[in-house]
Amino acid sequence: MKKVLSLLLIMTMIFALTTGCSSKTDEQPAENTTNQDTAAQAEKEEDNTLVMYTNAEFPPFEYFEGEKIVGVDVDIANEIAKDMGKELVVEHIDFSSIIPAVLNDKADFGAAGMTITAERQEQVDFSISYVESIQHIISKKDAEILDMEGLKGKKIGVQLGTTGDLAISDAVNLPEGDLYNSGAEVKTYKNALEASQDLLAGRIDAVVIDKLPAEEIVNGNEGLKTVVFGDISEAYGICVKKGNEELLNSINSTLQRLLDEGKIAEFIENHSK
Ligand code: GLN
Repeated sequence: MKKVLSLLLIMTMIFALTTGCSSKTDEQPAENTTNQDTAAQAEKEEDNTLVMYTNAEFPPFEYFEGEKIVGVDVDIANEIAKDMGKELVVEHIDFSSIIPAVLNDKADFGAAGMTITAERQEQVDFSISYVESIQHIISKKDAEILDMEGLKGKKIGVQLGTTGDLAISDAVNLPEGDLYNSGAEVKTYKNALEASQDLLAGRIDAVVIDKLPAEEIVNGNEGLKTVVFGDISEAYGICVKKGNEELLNSINSTLQRLLDEGKIAEFIENHSK
């Protein structure tokens, strides 16, 4: 009988222990709630960020300094974030992927020395313009390339999806183009730095790119020169998702303030070689 009693006691203890354990298991969701709280908090913190997408291969507007992305557009974006009380996050991506990133909400805005064009305006909304530019031709110093005429029959490097690419591809490939049937060829690159490497190595004869980035490349490489290509003036804008008026208004008021204060010219000066 004693044996039966002690067996019962042991069984009761085991039962108690098991219940104890199972009540711990019941507490599991409580821990989950804590995780959810942390996730929500992280989301809130994330909400306080302002995400800019750019292509950091376009000095002086955006370039890598070690691991860090710096440049005129980053200085501007920091001012926008400061005025909005947000924390700026800058992501590097191919130039042609910036607008898609804005469209699928990965980026709050794109800032990349991006020219405001009618075609892009069909996809995104642009801020007021903050810099004027014009396409330039980079070539070796001794090349006889002084303008568009000089590009006839030449191998021309451009950065994929840029206004320089469009201008040259039209000139070379369209029957009414200035370089049509001249034997000129277009070679596209992910960025102008790669294109200028090929130019220095003699694999192409010229690179067509925006004025200030062209001057940066020429100043950084012996033996290159740059001349104006065409006469079409371009205006840079920051792009946001269509209809994102609140953000666009904030961006515009910061840009206007920076323009009024002469800050953008100062940023350009600071980031130029
Ligand atoms: N301004 C040119 C464009 O919008 C080039 C910009 C760039 O390469 N980052 O196409």
